[in-house]
Amino acid sequence: MRPGTSGLQLNEKLIFDHSDPGRKGYSLPKLDVPTGSLPAELVREEVSGFPEVSEVDVVRHFTRLSTWNYGVDSGFYPLGSCTMKYNPKINEKVARLDGFAGCHPYTSETLSQGALGLMYNLQEALAEISGFAAVTLQPAAGAHGELAGMLMIRAWHEAQGNKRTKVLIPDTAHGTNPATAALCGYEVVPIESKGAGVLTAETVAEFMDDDVAALMVTNPNTLGLFESDIKKICDIVHNGGGLVYCDGANLNALMGIARPGDMGIDVMHFNLHKTFSTPHGGGGPGSGPVGVSAALEPFRPAPVVVKQGDSYGLDYERPQSIGRLRSFYGNFGIMVRAYAYILSMGGKGLKRASQMAVLNANYIRARLEKVFDLPHKHRSLHEVVLSDKNLGGDCHTLDLAKRLIDYGFHPPTIYFPLVVKGAIMIEPTETESMEILDEFCDAMLAIAEEADKTPELLHDAPTLTRVKRLDETTAARQPCLCWLPEE
Ligand SMILES: *Cc1c(COP(=O)(O)O)cnc(C)c1O
Repeated sequence: MRPGTSGLQLNEKLIFDHSDPGRKGYSLPKLDVPTGSLPAELVREEVSGFPEVSEVDVVRHFTRLSTWNYGVDSGFYPLGSCTMKYNPKINEKVARLDGFAGCHPYTSETLSQGALGLMYNLQEALAEISGFAAVTLQPAAGAHGELAGMLMIRAWHEAQGNKRTKVLIPDTAHGTNPATAALCGYEVVPIESKGAGVLTAETVAEFMDDDVAALMVTNPNTLGLFESDIKKICDIVHNGGGLVYCDGANLNALMGIARPGDMGIDVMHFNLHKTFSTPHGGGGPGSGPVGVSAALEPFRPAPVVVKQGDSYGLDYERPQSIGRLRSFYGNFGIMVRAYAYILSMGGKGLKRASQMAVLNANYIRARLEKVFDLPHKHRSLHEVVLSDKNLGGDCHTLDLAKRLIDYGFHPPTIYFPLVVKGAIMIEPTETESMEILDEFCDAMLAIAEEADKTPELLHDAPTLTRVKRLDETTAARQPCLCWLPEE
């Protein structure tokens, strides 16, 4: 059985191609009053080619198109690093409550106590989960949080009267890390992992000098491995006068188990749209709060949400603040969802989520490492990175990913992290059952067998989709957003 695929695919042409002259989506009773005429400037000119369709044409057209989407609500979505966990619908319900959804950002503080209270409590909850002294909710995504964090680090150095020029970044890092450091005016110094998979204190010590403003590290890193020297590493950077930034995109492995703030890290962004179960993909909206140590607290973007007695307010008097990073206060709807998620899970539930995420990744690893190459053999946390080294039949990671689609699975992240040649990065998350994990592993193993025996099945894949194998570069540069019937 091929889970998730079926012979019934709803293809769809453009709405214009459904048009039939004179067809209408309504019928009205005959006019029984005299007609008047509008001033000419209020009358729209005839739109040429405007589709003339019936109501059922319109409903079916858009409903069919909606089935072209793939999301966590349609099936397993094992994109490594992205944490595509299921988003409970209670979060959506809460975010749609009139008081939240209808609250205008210009509403006065006295009339927005509920919204401000929610933001304050979310800051506190994130600080508790991560071990930081304070949190800002302003940044609109992880990468935006990185920018906020690195700007705070720069402001801190400047306040010390000691402007530094370099930022150390291991070669396993997400591309946004060096991009952020460069945007803040720093020279990026890559630290080669030289096949080790994790940073050692000795390596960091070698690179540390008086010009290093910060180390940017991801923990667990993008190979799904815990940086176990992290405390020593933080000590080395601090003793050298630098600060440590943590890319917190992988917090889903740590909740309730370990706190980056306790490891000596100075600044970290959260991706609410990854770890805290808010919708994600298609470019947003996301939310990338940032946690900071007490020393960096004065630099938080203004305004800051504060509690005064029993009420909540916005503090604009922040002389050391790096300034505003986002219109109004950030992506508020995402904050409501994340807060609902945190409250409904509770501390114990969040810990259990991380434990299950790690267990699920290790289950997949255990089933696949017998057949697939596993370049880094340290204990995996919430994701596992394989490579295409053992694939036969001149088949590569891309072929495997395309063939997975024929088996009804969204492919995992591929060719990232860059340090693994032909990387296949699988992150199942805690929300998948053992049955799903088994179906996925069965498909992966069946494809590995096909690569040996019938490699053309991989080279030609996907074959069961509306659109077959595309030239990836052309598809990205000249996207064709309509369905072309095959000749
Ligand atoms: C997703 C991710 C980012 C960037 O986060 P966005 O919210 O997409 O901007 C940064 N680092 C890592 C490791 C990530 O997985």
